[in-house]
Amino acid sequence: MVDKLERNQKKLHRNTKQRAVIAACFSNEVGPLSVNEVHAQAAKQSPSLGIATVYRAMNAFVEEGILAPVVIGGTTRYEPAAKRRHHHFHCRQCNAAFCVEDTPVTTSRLAPKGFTIHEYDLVVSGTCPSCLSENRGEH
Ligand SMILES: [Zn+2]
Ligand SMILES: [Zn+2]
Repeated sequence: MVDKLERNQKKLHRNTKQRAVIAACFSNEVGPLSVNEVHAQAAKQSPSLGIATVYRAMNAFVEEGILAPVVIGGTTRYEPAAKRRHHHFHCRQCNAAFCVEDTPVTTSRLAPKGFTIHEYDLVVSGTCPSCLSENRGEH
């Protein structure tokens, strides 16, 4: 019979491992990810991972200030909170979102004269390269 402490430690270890798998989805990501997208990626590493667990872990990451939510194309997605100011590209065909690191506009010009910008939320939509090549019949 396993005692309670040992059981809790096992549980904690399992949760930590799952969190690590989820966190890894954001390490080399080109754009913010929805819970479904994270779940699809994380399930490749850890097939037993349920979407409810992903959801809970991502909420915890947001509370801890590790991830920040962004709403793009009507879907809430998440990305590392430490990312500096940038805008996003939304592919209307596959619904994927991409970070655009260099915002090519002078952001002060996004507000009327005399106003101070604290934050901006700019989404450019169109078609991503993989959808474009699919449209042309290339694979
Ligand atoms: Zn696309
Ligand atoms: Zn981004």
